[in-house]
Amino acid sequence: MPWIAFLLACVVTLGLASPPKASSEAAGATVPPRFEVVVLGRAQDGGLPHLGCERSCCVNARKSGRLETPACLGVRDLESGRLLLLEATPRIEHQVGLLHEIANSTGRPRRPGDGIMLTHAHIGHYAGLIQLGREVASTKATPVWATPRFCDFLRDNGPWSQLVELDQIDLNEISPGTTDGTIPPTTFEPLPGLRVDAFTVPHRDEFSDTVAYKLRGPAKTVLFCPDVDRWDAHDGLLEKLLEGVDVAYVDATFYDGRELPGRNILEVPHPPMVRTMELLEAAGRKTPGRVRFIHLNHTNPALNDPDLQAEIRARGFPVAEVGERVGI
Ligand SMILES: [Zn+2]
Ligand SMILES: [Zn+2]
Ligand SMILES: [Zn+2]
Repeated sequence: MPWIAFLLACVVTLGLASPPKASSEAAGATVPPRFEVVVLGRAQDGGLPHLGCERSCCVNARKSGRLETPACLGVRDLESGRLLLLEATPRIEHQVGLLHEIANSTGRPRRPGDGIMLTHAHIGHYAGLIQLGREVASTKATPVWATPRFCDFLRDNGPWSQLVELDQIDLNEISPGTTDGTIPPTTFEPLPGLRVDAFTVPHRDEFSDTVAYKLRGPAKTVLFCPDVDRWDAHDGLLEKLLEGVDVAYVDATFYDGRELPGRNILEVPHPPMVRTMELLEAAGRKTPGRVRFIHLNHTNPALNDPDLQAEIRARGFPVAEVGERVGI
């Protein structure tokens, strides 16, 4: 499996040799990290190659065997060895395998991880839960954290409801805050010592609402916001999400609209990468590498064009690499 070998090479070369640069605030911190956040996938829900796409992005990927899996982070407790997933993507088996390789974790029959935090009910973010069921892993009460609306959706609709009935997942309702500050989040600890705040963010909310997570370890704080509406439609949203954050993984579904011929980019409900970079230009120079792009659509040139990747990295905004790690 050449791509597995490639991904593991990324872990060593990108993750350990060049960890993301922290903010100046965190650079002075002396507290050692207790947890490691690992990027396990960086594509939009459908990944790459993308079902039904006959454009060069996916035709070339099919020919070369290139695989990009949906946006997903893993968290590893450096003391206890416990493992957490942010999202259960349709490629959960591949991503858990990568996390186990990185964590050097074996001997976990029927308990591929110690918990899963979910942002929202779009297929790239939760459909992998089905692999915890009796046809596959048949896990025992794997803790799952999600909003009350999302938990209700899982309890009330098959096939997810069977996971609850058979106690294969154990739902934990979170209380997200609002980014306008009117409702503070209730902090929870999916792993002892890992303090997490959820914030409701605007997105297409058919089956659940949508959250972004801030993960606070003793050393640093990481933001995970893979899907969100345009920044310009919501005053102060981007600033509030970045508040107190050392490394931010943010929605990079589309680059500048060239991927969507015939559609006005101002009407697309995602922040184009060019707009995020424009809004954060000064911050990109001051703290390069703090804001990192994730959840790239298969058509996004920043997923497929190394020259463009180098150009935006030079502006201080790297595209997340599978296998990169942040100690927090
Ligand atoms: Zn998505
Ligand atoms: Zn494609
Ligand atoms: Zn979504």
